[in-house]
Amino acid sequence: MNILVLGSGGREHAISLKISQSPKTSKLIVAPGNAGTAQIATNVEVGVNDFEAIKKLVINKSIHLVVVGPEDPLVNGVHDFFLNDDELKSIPVIGPEKAAAELEGSKEFAKEFMMRHNIPTAAYESFTRESLEKGYAFLESLSPPYVLKADGLAAGKGVLILKDLQEAKDELKSMLVDSKFGNASATVVIEEFLNGIELSCFVLTDGTNYKILPTAKDYKRIGEGDTGLNTGGMGAISPVPFVDEVLMDKIEQQIVKPTVDGLKKDNLPYVGFIFIGLIKVGVEPKVIEYNVRMGDPETEVVIPRLKSDLVEVLSAMANGTLDQIDLQIDKRAATTVMAVSGGYPEAYEKGKEITGTENIQDSIVFHAGTKLSDGKVVTNGGRVIAITSFGKDFKEALKTSYQNMEKLHFDGMYYRKDLGFDL
Ligand code: AMP
Repeated sequence: MNILVLGSGGREHAISLKISQSPKTSKLIVAPGNAGTAQIATNVEVGVNDFEAIKKLVINKSIHLVVVGPEDPLVNGVHDFFLNDDELKSIPVIGPEKAAAELEGSKEFAKEFMMRHNIPTAAYESFTRESLEKGYAFLESLSPPYVLKADGLAAGKGVLILKDLQEAKDELKSMLVDSKFGNASATVVIEEFLNGIELSCFVLTDGTNYKILPTAKDYKRIGEGDTGLNTGGMGAISPVPFVDEVLMDKIEQQIVKPTVDGLKKDNLPYVGFIFIGLIKVGVEPKVIEYNVRMGDPETEVVIPRLKSDLVEVLSAMANGTLDQIDLQIDKRAATTVMAVSGGYPEAYEKGKEITGTENIQDSIVFHAGTKLSDGKVVTNGGRVIAITSFGKDFKEALKTSYQNMEKLHFDGMYYRKDLGFDL
């Protein structure tokens, strides 16, 4: 099969590597890709939201299957674009259609979906500019901390958690009236604060059947001890050690199954990955958010643990035969540690030469923000390289990731040395 992967991060490198290892893959193209995907596939300089250019690429390269990495093109309707085009409609796209991608594209849509299907989540109400006063009253009825969420996509920055009531009111006004997050905050969801420990659950679905991939936990804050600003993710661990059979069963019965059944009932066609952000409150799992694609850096620990042929799995998703797949998972733990550019997640410089990857042993090097420049691999983003390792448990795996991190170098490189501190 000729396969096209859309995206350019560590997630897409991890997915592409697994696809490249399948005997079913003849040609693998990544658009736009990075210096890591260039080693295992052909990179083509086409943006993930440039649907017309993607169409040309799919036709010119005789692509048989498209895997969408990030959420943006899904929310913008890339799957629908294929379905509505005579030349493209027979080519399967892994990733939901626009209507179902609203699970990530709109927090209000996701909350209404959960309410409709009895899926446990935080109590909430949503507000617009017209209902600002009601929003203030709702905040007054809650106890701190206050959780304010911009309804639309806001590059991961749209959630505010505030301890002070006045500050929460001011922020609500700034989101609704002063368009703090542009149109994304024209509606704001205010929800009950849930106190607990977070984890992520990844599901594959063909729209009817589902398979659950290994759980993972990521570390979002830039600073050790989970302090400082939020980032795209500084590392991840899989499986999540505190998830036992009882909790996993609750997650499946109360959340995964009603989600997949709910999509079908609501007539929301969904072939793709569902990333369910969960919080364990006491002994109960609750949904914090849905994402309509894999997580990054969670993919860098989840996909390497998949022993099944990923192309067979993706084909079964596209063909509606996922029930016939027996997912094989590596029992070992996997960890990934992300090396980031100095200054990230605020301003940082690009173009720094990356050295030392050739000395890394017993780990997988996944490229994120990298590119080739005059034959050298240089930094090209905030999150630069993820080092994934296996071990009998996450501590052993982390030791290998950290030993190899010491061999990697670029100017200003930073990584967190305390992953798993809370486990
Ligand atoms: P989201 O973009 O919805 O995943 O929210 C970003 C982060 O905010 C989550 O990963 C949580 O750490 C936190 N968060 C979101 N909603 C809540 C909530 N209801 N209670 C506590 N923390 C939350």
